[in-house]
Amino acid sequence: MRFYLILIFLLAFALSYAQRSSPDQFETAKGILSVQPILHGTFVFTWDGKTVYVDPYGGAKAFEGIAPADLILITDIHGDHMSLETLEALETSKSIIIAPAAVTEKLPEALKKKAVSLANGEKTEKLDMTIGAIPMYNLPEDPESRHTKGRGNGYVIDLGGKHVYISGDTEDIPEMRTLKNIDIAFVCMNLPYTMDIDQATSAVLDFKPKVVYPYHYRGQGGLADIEAFKAQLNKKNNKIEVRLRNWYPTY
Ligand code: ZN
Repeated sequence: MRFYLILIFLLAFALSYAQRSSPDQFETAKGILSVQPILHGTFVFTWDGKTVYVDPYGGAKAFEGIAPADLILITDIHGDHMSLETLEALETSKSIIIAPAAVTEKLPEALKKKAVSLANGEKTEKLDMTIGAIPMYNLPEDPESRHTKGRGNGYVIDLGGKHVYISGDTEDIPEMRTLKNIDIAFVCMNLPYTMDIDQATSAVLDFKPKVVYPYHYRGQGGLADIEAFKAQLNKKNNKIEVRLRNWYPTY
């Protein structure tokens, strides 16, 4: 009996600690940019002494051991991007929130006070970062689609000359295909909500980021085949570095 209890304890320990990927580091003109995948479309990056949460989701537990956010970026209204439960459980006393108006207008009063609305095509400067909002939407454009153009934001962020692209929930739209000088890209791929790995491959081949992270890849049929995404992308262009990380740890 005791043996089994110890075994269960060890197993629980391994499951809870073994899975979050360790952060990746990139050089910028203003020090190290560190990227920590958290869950699905959620990650944290730190740069120049600031901590930025992207689409915080997964509850406070998913952020254990991570400094409170100076800045929170939210892409869209769905629960895996705008998670009120998570936002309210986190320490946000010094956070600024940047989000599309569709999100900021849904925030409870206390969070709304910290929020700045940014529309597609607009840019803002915060904490020495330039943050630009670009469209994210389903194709073909349809008012009934899950992601309509103009509601949500993808983001392009300039961090001391390094350009980071966050796709949000989108298909292989021209606004993604024509991006220039992207150093690090976070690209979604899950059906039926965003796009399949073939669309993602084709779009990434067009805008040629230096590094691409497949993220947000859990769909109705389970996880997208990110190994196949990497293989087919690198078969056509082996200069684009694909970083496969564990975006689905258990918290
Ligand atoms: Zn989503």
